Amino acid sequence: MFRYHPDPIATGSAERAEHVCHVCGQHREVRYTGPIYGRRAENLCLSCISSGEAARALGIGAGGLAQPAQFSDAVGVPADVPLDVVTEITQRTPGFVGWQQESWLFHCADGAAFLGPAGYHDLASHPDAISMIRADLRRSGWSDGDADELIRGFDRTGEPTAYLFGCLHCGAHLASWDSG
Ligand SMILES: [Zn+2]
Ligand SMILES: [Zn+2]
Repeated sequence: MFRYHPDPIATGSAERAEHVCHVCGQHREVRYTGPIYGRRAENLCLSCISSGEAARALGIGAGGLAQPAQFSDAVGVPADVPLDVVTEITQRTPGFVGWQQESWLFHCADGAAFLGPAGYHDLASHPDAISMIRADLRRSGWSDGDADELIRGFDRTGEPTAYLFGCLHCGAHLASWDSG
């Protein structure tokens, strides 16, 4: 259903739970559990996220000032990524829970697919993702020793946590991280 978030139940952004969706009023079986940057909805189905109904219905403001709700943030988007890709990711794709307001990652002029929160052992089979985090840390002035210590401490449920993505074109793995 979602090009950029293939399995929202596996990543923890949705759960199997019978509910009546706040937006469409239908009985649904999979409920969104990720962030909403807009008006709150206790029960929201994935169909309403996919169709864009949820972004419209939970937006803030009215008329010409209306701002659609977003489910994730997109910061530092590369210039070669089309705007409609960014809109699909922020308004029509389930977001993911992080310690802070997480940004999506991009590769090969497209959004990458979110594969889930990751601990050190989840990342260990994706050395390209570890290299990306290490390069980001080096640019921020971290020593290699401190960077390795941080990376070894990544925890899927504790903190700090890494967020793993896969490029839909070249197969590269990418990751960001944060802590509370
Ligand atoms: Zn719905
Ligand atoms: Zn790529």
